[in-house]
Amino acid sequence: MNLLEKTFIGLPTAPGIAIGEVFILRHDIPEFREQCILEEKRDYEITRLEESLIKTRRQLDALRTRMEDIVGDSIARIFDAQAAILDDIEFKDPICEIIRDDGLNAEFAVSKIAQKLVDTLHATEDEIFRVKAQDINDVARRIVKNLLGKSESAIGPLKRPAILVTDNLLPSDVIHLLRENVQAVASDLGGVASHTAILTRSLGVPSVVGLKDLTKLLAGEERIIVNGNSGKVILNPSQDTINKYQSKKNKYEEYLAELSDIEHLPAETKDGHRIIISANIELPSEVKSVISHGIEGIGLFRSEYLFLTRNAIPVEEDQYRDYCDVIRKVAPYTVTIRTFDLGGDKVFTDLPIPTEPNPFMGWRAIRVFSDEPKFLRAQIRAILRAAAIGPARIMFPFVSDLDEVLYLKEMVQNVIEKLEEEGKDYDGNIEIGIMIELPSAVMLADRIAKEVDFFSIGTNDLTQFVLAVDRGNEKVSSLYRPLHPAVIRMIKTTVDAGHSEGIEVALCGELAANPIATMLLVGLGVDVLSISPFASGEIKKIIRSMNYHQAVDFANEALKINTYKQLKAYCIETMKHQFADAPIWFENNNYKLQ
Ligand code: PEP
Ligand code: MG
Repeated sequence: MNLLEKTFIGLPTAPGIAIGEVFILRHDIPEFREQCILEEKRDYEITRLEESLIKTRRQLDALRTRMEDIVGDSIARIFDAQAAILDDIEFKDPICEIIRDDGLNAEFAVSKIAQKLVDTLHATEDEIFRVKAQDINDVARRIVKNLLGKSESAIGPLKRPAILVTDNLLPSDVIHLLRENVQAVASDLGGVASHTAILTRSLGVPSVVGLKDLTKLLAGEERIIVNGNSGKVILNPSQDTINKYQSKKNKYEEYLAELSDIEHLPAETKDGHRIIISANIELPSEVKSVISHGIEGIGLFRSEYLFLTRNAIPVEEDQYRDYCDVIRKVAPYTVTIRTFDLGGDKVFTDLPIPTEPNPFMGWRAIRVFSDEPKFLRAQIRAILRAAAIGPARIMFPFVSDLDEVLYLKEMVQNVIEKLEEEGKDYDGNIEIGIMIELPSAVMLADRIAKEVDFFSIGTNDLTQFVLAVDRGNEKVSSLYRPLHPAVIRMIKTTVDAGHSEGIEVALCGELAANPIATMLLVGLGVDVLSISPFASGEIKKIIRSMNYHQAVDFANEALKINTYKQLKAYCIETMKHQFADAPIWFENNNYKLQ
């Protein structure tokens, strides 16, 4: 039979191209019958429920231990969040009520309450709540399976290479991803900040999420292509399409192989100007790929993910352990730990952040912690103590003015005095820096530069505030323009302010990993580009093929351009002429140009 080729467009969340056979993984709660339970049998039904909860907990503990060995503590903690659902009275009590008061069986009660909670969470349309809903679904499916006495594994071992196509990749599926035979993942649900995205990226499995109804169209064993670079997924590809993608894949792999030789060379222009390439990470487990991609330190450790993967506030000792782990592995390079940037799109239940009309401009980052200083104090303590074992520095996000800088520095000083009193080891000379991501901080950069040891420009937030464009709102995404002349001028102002006080100026927004902008950023004088480890080869290659004086001239010309369209075209044209790899880069990154 000649099946029709069909193309789907999703969100690319982990790079790479795979061509293979579909292996479907669906997460429906297994079928069961709704049954009435006689009054005298209801206690027994509750006991049956309790036993399945115990069994579920044991399974989650075992998964956690296995995952901890393989991908590290932070990802493994996802299973702690799932285990916490078992104890949550909003989950367990209504289930028992349905059994006891309505006289219905445990399987029905579990799936009914799970569905109710999931519907409520989905109604919020918040990425974090959607992740929580995934966890509830995953746990409910496991409990019902245990009640029915079905075996735990949703899929048997993949005996031959296949592409995992799923309605939703759940944390407990990570175990399947570790099997060598999983070539790629395509999933109906999930956003870029979903567990799926985080996990596949950190495990290096190409993935595309947000494909809506893909699994509904599948019977299994169809052929499929997943392009984690562009977000394209092609079902039932024709032989011509397969040939085309096979050659794309070969070219991409050759390109990567060539880049991997460059990754371990310094990012130095032909005329000897050195740029530091450091990494942005969310989880300690990503350190492995930082080292393997030849990166010189961590320029942004988004420490709030320690909250989000645990769904609880990590105590000082837990944080200390995680920071030490990262610092030890990254030494002799430096780890820049950004204090928690919660709020905006990153919320979690232990520190209930109210629903706000403008969450990105609301109770966020250091604002949360100046109201709740004990959390920030605990984090500063953990960072200062961990910095005693290797090079680390502290970075405060979302700083708007000098008053905040002085307040934060005083807090660090108070922590130092306390640690001294307690006789603890700590680094009293730790470098303190801030993110420049608010327009007010740019305007005051010359004053603030006198008080801090480094700047790191956060173009993700800076762009949204300078242009008044919500970075997460799809409706205005075409107006979200980090290469806008207004943003570029702000970068220039910040670099000049930092350099006139002799401090380092890094850039850690997504713009740092966009090759179209590399020459411009180098020419503007940015000292450090902090990027995803996977972009290291590309960015180094570009830097190594330019002259610094040429980049400075280019940036000076770019600063004279008045419109975004012209500026972008100017950058793209230069990239095309300057770099031999441009065609292959454009083919694999066209989504970065939109
Ligand atoms: C930024 O705003 O550019 C940044 C790097 O921080 P985040 O994306 O975590 O807000
Ligand atoms: Mg930011």
